Amino acid sequence: MRIELRNISKSYGDLKVIENFSATLDSGKIYQIAGPSGSGKTTLLNIIMGLVKQDQGTVDPQNIRISAVFQEDRLIESLSAEDNLKACGITGNIREELDKILPLGAARKKVSKLSGGMRRRVCIARAVLAESDLLIMDEPFSGIDEQNLINVIQYIMAHKKDRVLTITSHANIADMFGEDISVLKL
Ligand code: ADP
Ligand code: MG
Repeated sequence: MRIELRNISKSYGDLKVIENFSATLDSGKIYQIAGPSGSGKTTLLNIIMGLVKQDQGTVDPQNIRISAVFQEDRLIESLSAEDNLKACGITGNIREELDKILPLGAARKKVSKLSGGMRRRVCIARAVLAESDLLIMDEPFSGIDEQNLINVIQYIMAHKKDRVLTITSHANIADMFGEDISVLKL
């Protein structure tokens, strides 16, 4: 799969957030969307997902299967971690999968009772276990401490398969992934 972002521009009123942005995203590759806070990273990802409409430019093809770690968790607070994944149509051994990146027993707890970093890991599992061609992760590692981070990154790599992976992060994720990562600057 190859995704072409062509000449994308977006303004909010007088504020030009993205100006004529183009990039080619290929299967199996990792892309970091880099830029300071407020530079339009989330806006660009939301345009790719069809949640925000660009003023100009195209995302091609348009009917890509996407799974995402949104900037906000977007979890169903009254459900357990495992039931959040089930509610998204994810099948298979969800408990076993969550146990790989969460403390034992956390998968059965209501997500409202989990720490910020644990909730983030539920969001990461939800995204990687969903069937998709493009994985979008907007600040996925926020609140995840260094000790868990290595494990989480290994988990993502083990489940990424041949998908396109697009990540925004303030950290140097190339070092963390130990992989060749293309940096797209905003
Ligand atoms: P980043 O993710 O890089 O921090 P964002 O894409 O969230 O940046 O935001 C880029 C700029 O657009 C910011 O100045 C933000 O305040 C502004 N912005 C984002 N969404 C809206 C919106 N719905 N209405 C008005 N301004 C917005
Ligand atoms: Mg953002």
